[in-house]
Amino acid sequence: MKEIEAIYLKDYKKPLYCIKDVTLVFDIFDEYTVVKNTMNIIKEDQESNELALDSIDLELLTLKLDGVELESSRYSYEDEKLTIKDTPQTFTLYIENKIYPNENTELEGLYNSGDIICTQNEPEGFRRITPYLDRPDVMSVFTTTVIADREKYPVLLSNGNKRQCHDSFDNRHGVTWHDPHPKPAYLFAVVAGDLGVVEDSFVTMSKQEVALNIYCDKGNESKCTHAMHSLKSAMKWDEEKYQREYDLEYYNIVAVDSFNMGAMENKGLNIFNSHYVLADETTATDANFMGIESVIAHEYFHNWTGNRITCRDWFQLTLKEGLTVYRDQTFSADMNSEAIQRISDVKTLKERQFVEDASPTSHPIQPKSYISMNNFYTATVYEKGAEVIRMIHTLIGELNFFNAMQLYFDKFDGMAVTVDEFLWAMQEASGHDLTAFKLWYDQSGTPTLKVEESYEDGVYRLNTKQIVPLNVEKEEQKPYYYPLKIALFDEITYECVVEEMLIISKESEEFVFKGLKNGVVLSINRDFSAPIIVKQKDPKYRFLMMHDTNSFVRYESAQAYALEVLELLLAGKDIPREYKEAYGYLLDLDGDLSYKALLLELPTVTAMMQNREDIDVQKLISARERLEKELVLEYREKIIQLYETHHQPKNSEIDASSMAQRAIKNRALKLLGCLETQEISQIAYKQYEESLTMTDKVVALEVLENISQELSQKAFSDFYERYSNDTLVMNKYFALLASSKRDGVLQRVEQLENDEVFDIKVPNLVRSLIGTFARNEKYFHATDGSGYKYLAKKIIEVDKINAQMASSLAGAFKIYKKLNSKSQKLMKVELECVVSTQSISKNLFEIVDKILNK
Ligand SMILES: [Zn+2]
Repeated sequence: MKEIEAIYLKDYKKPLYCIKDVTLVFDIFDEYTVVKNTMNIIKEDQESNELALDSIDLELLTLKLDGVELESSRYSYEDEKLTIKDTPQTFTLYIENKIYPNENTELEGLYNSGDIICTQNEPEGFRRITPYLDRPDVMSVFTTTVIADREKYPVLLSNGNKRQCHDSFDNRHGVTWHDPHPKPAYLFAVVAGDLGVVEDSFVTMSKQEVALNIYCDKGNESKCTHAMHSLKSAMKWDEEKYQREYDLEYYNIVAVDSFNMGAMENKGLNIFNSHYVLADETTATDANFMGIESVIAHEYFHNWTGNRITCRDWFQLTLKEGLTVYRDQTFSADMNSEAIQRISDVKTLKERQFVEDASPTSHPIQPKSYISMNNFYTATVYEKGAEVIRMIHTLIGELNFFNAMQLYFDKFDGMAVTVDEFLWAMQEASGHDLTAFKLWYDQSGTPTLKVEESYEDGVYRLNTKQIVPLNVEKEEQKPYYYPLKIALFDEITYECVVEEMLIISKESEEFVFKGLKNGVVLSINRDFSAPIIVKQKDPKYRFLMMHDTNSFVRYESAQAYALEVLELLLAGKDIPREYKEAYGYLLDLDGDLSYKALLLELPTVTAMMQNREDIDVQKLISARERLEKELVLEYREKIIQLYETHHQPKNSEIDASSMAQRAIKNRALKLLGCLETQEISQIAYKQYEESLTMTDKVVALEVLENISQELSQKAFSDFYERYSNDTLVMNKYFALLASSKRDGVLQRVEQLENDEVFDIKVPNLVRSLIGTFARNEKYFHATDGSGYKYLAKKIIEVDKINAQMASSLAGAFKIYKKLNSKSQKLMKVELECVVSTQSISKNLFEIVDKILNK
């Protein structure tokens, strides 16, 4: 497998040819599709005579240059390149080729999702449709005609505006779409199917009317209301916040069941995993509703940050993704609660990105090389990328950031650019020198800031020292430049006496604050102003979780305090009385119930694994279980009361206060679940039966599944009966059972693979059952190695169907080097088995090879 070659950022060269415009015809038949591709091409580099088009597994039918059929000596087709020799300066190339969408299980290029034919072309799927210069810096104007059976495929869609409908007598029909905005091939899309539609419209700030359509399986139309509402909110927000207006007559969204990712921002024709479109209160949880709002907005915001201004090459992915994630996070904060949004964004970052950053697959937000680009759609590029944009915003301020974004839009509209152009705009409009800041794009790993404090006669000194980890190549890295928001609280009056944004720029620094009346308590990295780990000698978590005015620091302190206590338990000590009291204090808090639900949450096992080596997973799980149980026994009455006060089974509204009530009472129910008593399982069963919302049902099932085999079976078979026709809901069914804490879960997961609803070709189902099992720490890390063995076996099986899915499942092994030697040994056997499998995909090879060898 060693001949698999990496691609390097430093090797970037401009394209030798450009494609001025391209006209495509898709002739769709049951067994195959014929693609007719006419490109007007201009030679850009006079030295060059050979045009090499990217082309994977295509059956060529015809090849004509300026209307003349090409002789076989004029072209070659090997190593995924169709090369045309001796090209003139400008010419028209006509290619006809055949593809087989119903055999395409990789879900890249043109493929079937059930009865729908659709595309996924980012990053390099278009080369599986027709030969092309499949790179983001080749931007072209596309005109696309889709022709298919009228009955089977009444809906025919592509990018841009609808131009013409064609009829023919043989039961076939066609539609031509024209997209006036030049775009790279990865934003190209086609959809054909017999779909239901929900129609609406939006009038832009310059009074242009846009037709909004959401297409879905027939019968699901009523589940598109929330997605449509979210789309209109996003369109309005982008006009108000960034002055960005939509630019086509149509904005179409199609929901499909088989999709590798969440959604794809194809120009004017977004294709979505149905998970991020369809929802009503009886089939979707509150978290699903939030997820839909955020992903719909994310894809919409790409129209400017990604589509109008795109990436020069795939090493620039964070240019569009980091920025667009930042935009969708701030949108969700504006639509809902800023505090809760921030806490949940940071939580995701720490659980996914910090873990990645501490693993052999750690990479900068702008990677320097890759084998399979599919492996770089990572939490680092997306979530850490968004944190980097947020830091720029914090450093230069709201107004400067707005002006810099306007400059970026004005200057680079219609171009394929790099992160340097973005940073240039930020710097030019703000006057803030970002040279030192750029290291955030080039270095990997999570930096630590070590903090020491001293106080004497009204003078407080804060000494900071940056500890920057080596990168995966074991090279040294430089100190960073970033904003650090802090506050000081008077330790006697609890008053906030200093609030400042410091700039950390050197390895070691000292910040001095004078004129203080009393000793102070430091509140550091407020709002998580930088994606770093803070190490403090004697942090006052208890004080901060009770008195800090920054909701983020309060939450973080509650988590950190619990982690400290968990360390004590791991060292064989008891839970300190003060901690129990502090937790009791949180239980008594008034105010925002959603926030309180977060404060009461105990750290996850993943959070416990951070900054640890030689991990014994089972020990961590036991410590956490013990902490939870002791707290719940101590405050049982209060928690039951919390549940009873806020449990309103008949309320199915999706507004902030109803969602907050569900959040707090479900937190209470989950906590009570650890008691594993008859009484609690009765409460959970009652909730399952009575509640109208999916949110309540899912939590009830989770609690039941962990406690009571009998009631769990009863509830789950009822659930199955009700929802077995709804694959989206069945994803929850599989996930709940795969995350069970009861013995024998692996056997049950294996049995569920044979369930008639399960289909290993559908990524959502694989993620729900196998992916969830891989996150079930207790059984994935089973001491007999059975969890590792099972996952490895499944990865090999899935790799033959869908390489992208397989490499994403393999991510569960990233923790390898941090485990104790016993677990490492067990995991190693399985990883070696995967990597030595014949004809393993390059996606999977890249991940597993890194895990084993870095
Ligand atoms: Zn995106």
